[in-house]
Amino acid sequence: MQNGKFYKTIFYLTTNTLIITDLDIAKKALNANAIIAIPTETVYGLAGNAFSETAIKKIFELKKRPFYNPLIVHIKSAAYLTEVACNFPEIALQLAEKFWPGPLTLILKKLPKIPDLITAGKDTVAVRIPNHPLTLELLSQLDFPLAAPSANPFGSISPTSAAHVANYFKENLEIILDGGDCEKGLESTIIGFENNKPVLFRLGAISLEDIEKEVGKVLVKNHGNETDLSAPGMLSRHYSPATNTYFTDNIAEQIKLFQNKKIGLLLFKDRVEINGIDHQEILSATGNLEEAAKRLYAALHRLDKLSLDVIIAERFPNYGLGKTINDRLQRAVEK
Ligand code: AMP
Ligand code: MG
Repeated sequence: MQNGKFYKTIFYLTTNTLIITDLDIAKKALNANAIIAIPTETVYGLAGNAFSETAIKKIFELKKRPFYNPLIVHIKSAAYLTEVACNFPEIALQLAEKFWPGPLTLILKKLPKIPDLITAGKDTVAVRIPNHPLTLELLSQLDFPLAAPSANPFGSISPTSAAHVANYFKENLEIILDGGDCEKGLESTIIGFENNKPVLFRLGAISLEDIEKEVGKVLVKNHGNETDLSAPGMLSRHYSPATNTYFTDNIAEQIKLFQNKKIGLLLFKDRVEINGIDHQEILSATGNLEEAAKRLYAALHRLDKLSLDVIIAERFPNYGLGKTINDRLQRAVEK
């Protein structure tokens, strides 16, 4: 029980975040209703026992997330779906079969044992199986699913590495399970159902085209609307750097508006040959949207740390994951 002893020592002696890969420590913390950060293929999450109100409250407090914004429940297998939800439409099962484990969240009718806190009082629950070996192994060793929103303070840039999480939470989070850089780097695609027909509530790491290849035309409701909170994560302002950020089709024109300012650029594939630019982030020199998606948030984190006057982001091609990237950049610049 070396780990057990070690774990206790940590909790008595230090308030610093511990970055670990040891699942025994992670498991013990979660069994004791603590919150830990976990890696997924999308972004890092702040995870707690989805059947425990005490744990869920801690997530909302730590993240400063408003209670009207529900959490995603992470399960270990498709068979476990019946422990959290019921009345699945046929299409939901078809999508699960195709994309799980993976960055697809399904909105399904909830079972009573899912606390109302998780679902913001709604009768539906958001569920997915994350595709990360460490977290899948962790889930398989727990008697409960994990509720987990992204591991960032409400509204800020999502974390795609253990270091991003540590930076945000410093002394308030005891444990980060380190699973390396997130493979996809964008949040999950969220699909709900209206009259058994699929509705897209949030663009994400699986493109709309790939979903439609599977189930035909999907109704898209991916818009920020703070009164109709059918997908409340879609608040128009979200994923925002602290630095003043602009999003444009015309980088050269936008730069002209900021003469003598410290400018950082976020670009798809080509550097800009204009003097006086302090920093340029190229997301994929080969023009690969998957690579750009994977690197997006890390680049925003870097730019945000440079004490720039302004970040200018370029609009991406509006198809595939380019659509999701544009969606996130648009929300990053909303006032
Ligand atoms: P996050 O975990 O921060 O990536 O965001 C979770 C998001 O999932 C929420 O902000 C909502 O957009 C969505 N969500 C969670 N539960 C529900 C639900 N019951 N109905 C609709 N959307 C949901
Ligand atoms: Mg989030």
